[in-house]
Amino acid sequence: MVAILVFFEGFKNYNLGAKVLKEHRTKKLESRIIDYFCPPVMNDIQALKQFLSSPKKVVIVTHFKPDADALGSSLGLAGYLIKKGHFVDVITPSDYPDFLGWMPLKEIVTALSKESNEPFKKANVLLAKAEIIFCLDFSSLQRINELGEKVKEASGKKVLIDHHLEPENFADFEKWDVSSASTAELIYELIDELGDKNEIDANIANCLYAGLMTDTGGFRHNNTTQKEFLIASELVSRGASPSEVAKKIYDTNSLERLRLTGYALSQKLKVLPEFNTAYITLTWEELRQYGSQTGDTEGLVNYGLSIKGIKMAVLMYDRKEEIKLSFRSLSDFDVNALARKHFSGGGHKNASGGQSKLSLEETLKKFLSILPEYKQELNR
Ligand code: 5GP
Ligand code: MN
Repeated sequence: MVAILVFFEGFKNYNLGAKVLKEHRTKKLESRIIDYFCPPVMNDIQALKQFLSSPKKVVIVTHFKPDADALGSSLGLAGYLIKKGHFVDVITPSDYPDFLGWMPLKEIVTALSKESNEPFKKANVLLAKAEIIFCLDFSSLQRINELGEKVKEASGKKVLIDHHLEPENFADFEKWDVSSASTAELIYELIDELGDKNEIDANIANCLYAGLMTDTGGFRHNNTTQKEFLIASELVSRGASPSEVAKKIYDTNSLERLRLTGYALSQKLKVLPEFNTAYITLTWEELRQYGSQTGDTEGLVNYGLSIKGIKMAVLMYDRKEEIKLSFRSLSDFDVNALARKHFSGGGHKNASGGQSKLSLEETLKKFLSILPEYKQELNR
């Protein structure tokens, strides 16, 4: 018995362990022995279901500068868990764009801020007390900055739900699928697997729909498959409103944001035909000049990719504490690899981000200097 216990203990947290455990459970007698000596690990959906069968203190964390998928999947999951009787808090490592301010339950969000240390203190208390911590739409603890260490140290069970490449192994339960266009879909599937599809109401559905709509670029990117439409259809049948969500996210620009877009396109968009690459740089002063707010640069990078023949588009701008880079690409050109190798970033094959501690000018120089490395691929 001790040998069995040691064997299965060694496999805890690994999918292989779950698979081995599952196979054994099919054999009735053995399953009773295993369940007695080695309780189900959390990467078994039934174990998660069992864990959530009584009210728990839940914390949901998502990534720095959350986008609609990050915040939508967090608040969609929060809405569901609250309905199931749990005590739920959401923590974001930074503020989030105004165009997500309509999301139901935003009052339960503790957003960390550069202006005050209070939210960070509150987040620490919440993480330390949490019985279960959901990490949504990121797979590397570095993406939640100083909260990463706190999550790592926390004693609560950890659940990772994400669709980015190359996850870190820190969670007890993983629902990780790079073929999923959005984390919001994974939340929908999780609720379904927990047998609670009927708990999805209009508020939850709108949050999840927002993530699905934006991470597929309005159902236009090559991550849009039949599955995305099927889940979107399910969400609409449960009350999501495609027109209202699209209006709130895409058509609530401030005049300044629109002017910033105009300025960036007319004055700052550069094309490098020999590399089929387009890029935009924005200095801190330029962003200030247009009264730029969090989220105002979102989507700007896509304009470069809309030019015929362009294979890679880049946006780099000065965030003061660092230079933020956004990469987008077409088909086989892998910007995740480029961002990971040169700009401490990552993401997806055709959409990734990164950062640089150099000045904006130096960052641009570095970017231009690495382009020859990719010339062949960019001209394929
Ligand atoms: P965006 O350019 O819109 O910030 O990000 C594009 C995609 O890359 C998103 O899925 C985002 O989550 C991911 N991403 C952005 N920055 C980083 C980063 O620094 N590291 C990693 N691993 N992913 C990133
Ligand atoms: Mn996402």
